[in-house]
Amino acid sequence: MYIVHIASECAPVIKAGGLGDVVYGLSREIENQGHTVEIILPMYDCMRYDHIWGLHDAYKDLFVPWYDSTIHCSVFCGWVHGRLCFFIQPHSEDHFFDRGCYYGQEDDNMRFAFFSKAALEFLFVSNKRPDVIHCHDWQTGLIPVMLYEMYKWHGMANQRVCYTIHNFKHQGICGKEVLKATGLNNDEYYFNYDRLQDNFNPFALNMMKGGIVYSNHVNTVSPHHAWEARYSGVSYGLGHTLELHHYKFNGILNGIDRNIWNPEVDTFIPYQYNIDNLEDKAKNKKALRERLLLKENKKPIVAYIGRLDRQKGVELVHHALYYSLHRNAQFVLLGSATEASINNWFCHEKYYLNNNPDCHLELGFNEELAHLIYAGADIIVVPSDYEPCGLTQMIGLKYGTVPVVRGVGGLIDTVFDKDNDLNHPEEKRNGFVFYQTDYNALESGLERAIGLWHYFPKEFEKLQKQGMNYDYSWKNPAQRYIDLYDFLRHK
Ligand code: ADP
Repeated sequence: MYIVHIASECAPVIKAGGLGDVVYGLSREIENQGHTVEIILPMYDCMRYDHIWGLHDAYKDLFVPWYDSTIHCSVFCGWVHGRLCFFIQPHSEDHFFDRGCYYGQEDDNMRFAFFSKAALEFLFVSNKRPDVIHCHDWQTGLIPVMLYEMYKWHGMANQRVCYTIHNFKHQGICGKEVLKATGLNNDEYYFNYDRLQDNFNPFALNMMKGGIVYSNHVNTVSPHHAWEARYSGVSYGLGHTLELHHYKFNGILNGIDRNIWNPEVDTFIPYQYNIDNLEDKAKNKKALRERLLLKENKKPIVAYIGRLDRQKGVELVHHALYYSLHRNAQFVLLGSATEASINNWFCHEKYYLNNNPDCHLELGFNEELAHLIYAGADIIVVPSDYEPCGLTQMIGLKYGTVPVVRGVGGLIDTVFDKDNDLNHPEEKRNGFVFYQTDYNALESGLERAIGLWHYFPKEFEKLQKQGMNYDYSWKNPAQRYIDLYDFLRHK
């Protein structure tokens, strides 16, 4: 089969969070299983060019229809650690992708509506006819809309779309100018509850809703989150749309790339290790302490790695920090915030805790340090408010770093409480789960984890090994996507 992913991220060249990991890891596994995969991405000025090999002109003069005119684009092509990627670079005064950041611009709706249009136009004029176009998140929600309303009539009638929602929070809510810009000129037709009209604001369009309505298949990134999206508030108003389209909606758990997130081959960490030599994990702990100037003592290291965002339960992250210090543990945080108030809050904490030998706060994005923390920490805390899948707990498990998670979304599909999970026998349990959003709940999980480390080290090691035994690689999820693509192309 021939699959084209269209996305706003692909790790490590463009990575803001899990989306980048998923696009890369899934593509690699699908290719390993004998299929052809290409990835279309925006050419951001700030992406990691050092991760692209053989970057060259693939299509010099791509003229993308935009409003009543066209925007001249170049399409570059190169290999990102073996994946063939096409990067779209528009030459216009809008400088859509020359903003020094990936997201967070006032005209994000227009930037990604343009990217969607350009990606389709590129497929069309370069005569690429994939079996399945795999789109991701709101940034590419307009692709199936344009495919079925426009490009289908120009010879792209056989292409099927799989649409994966990684986060319902951002939906691309926009006004009618997007229709005019992309050539979907019939306002009345699209401002319809059955098409793109937002479910709550009748004067707005919703790109993610368009993706759901027009795609051949829609999924989110874990079975439990798929259930939550339909029956609770986490789909931010799209529950009814999912209900209407339930026959083509499901959840497929993400995987982690076994060549990148694997302590046996990880080149970012000083001591590679596996389940049989956890002593070498202890050496990484020492290296982490040296790197972050933490005191060498008999305490576990509790870590948090992730965006500092309300979704991630920042209040609980903050509480976990002080609670860990109070309970005779060390705490390491690696995170970046886009919201100024959260950023200021954690900057203040960093300043305040600067001389504390038991804790370190690293504010920013640092891939290499993330690897060392996964390897060196003993416990990883993921207290999310909601979590479509979550990669950090799966990476933690692989690295023998015991997860303490809130029981939501993909966290509940991957972490099974050591003391209370009645669905798994004891030897299959791998971490600690709490359910409520208050401090007591978090403490109930963290206290058990820290206590086990201090007072029952053999039990703690057993739990680490049980976690390492889980295979959360892309092997199984990729097979599910392949079966899905195969089903779609025969539809
Ligand atoms: P989300 O996609 O919601 O951000 P996930 O848990 O699915 O969360 O994926 C997070 C990914 O991003 C993981 O690979 C994690 O290691 C990485 N990550 C998050 N924040 C940082 C950071 N500040 N520095 C380095 N890596 C980070």
